[in-house]
Amino acid sequence: MTTISNRLQDILATIQSAEAASAYHQHVELLAVSKAQPASAIREAYTAGQTIFGENYSQEALEKQKQLTDLAIEWHFIGPIQSNKTQLIGQNFSWVHSVDRLKIAQRLNDARASIKMPLNVCIQVNVSNEDTKSGVLPDQLETLAEAISLLPNLKLRGLMAIPAPSIDPAQQIAQFAQVRECYDALIRRGFALDTLSIGMSNDYESAISQGATIVRIGSALFGARANVKNTALSTNNDT
Ligand SMILES: *Cc1c(COP(=O)(O)O)cnc(C)c1O
Repeated sequence: MTTISNRLQDILATIQSAEAASAYHQHVELLAVSKAQPASAIREAYTAGQTIFGENYSQEALEKQKQLTDLAIEWHFIGPIQSNKTQLIGQNFSWVHSVDRLKIAQRLNDARASIKMPLNVCIQVNVSNEDTKSGVLPDQLETLAEAISLLPNLKLRGLMAIPAPSIDPAQQIAQFAQVRECYDALIRRGFALDTLSIGMSNDYESAISQGATIVRIGSALFGARANVKNTALSTNNDT
């Protein structure tokens, strides 16, 4: 029987060889995406050595966090953000990958005021220009990055993207290369970024070839998710 621990070791080995083959010489971290998984699965992955977990739904995440307070987990929020959830998200996560408008960034900044550590954020960029509607368009990226940089309780770390799913590695690479270009353009403009959050279960090797520093992996680690609501490209609100 394949366990979470077995799958974790396989994924880490794959990451390592993709890293070795990458021209960017970057270090890649695995973010275990535990949406729709019970706290027990998170505990199992943690026991196998995984400490960074990503969640899409704030309410669901908080319930699991309560059951796992004995573990030193670093929690990342990666889902769509409704403005009435910014308080919860800003106070209960170390990272938010899915910031795509200034109003949300400002509310997260306010929520973070009482906490000493700044909230690490990535801007979600939409390079596929399609169905998810999440993510800022590349031509609006610099303006948003500029504004976020001025918020004292947020630390802008980089970019996140969810390109249109494809099983063709060439197409995966072409889309990740566009995200990479956006990232390099911001760095040329003087932004001190160190995080490129791209790649999921079906395309993380392609993402690593384009310089991913965080890959967000759910189903390859935990197995298929039962609940169709919680699919990767869900446009559902964070309920
Ligand atoms: C669900 C999800 C993932 C993980 O997707 P898998 O295909 O299961 O690896 C990664 N990133 C985001 C934003 C997601 O919503």
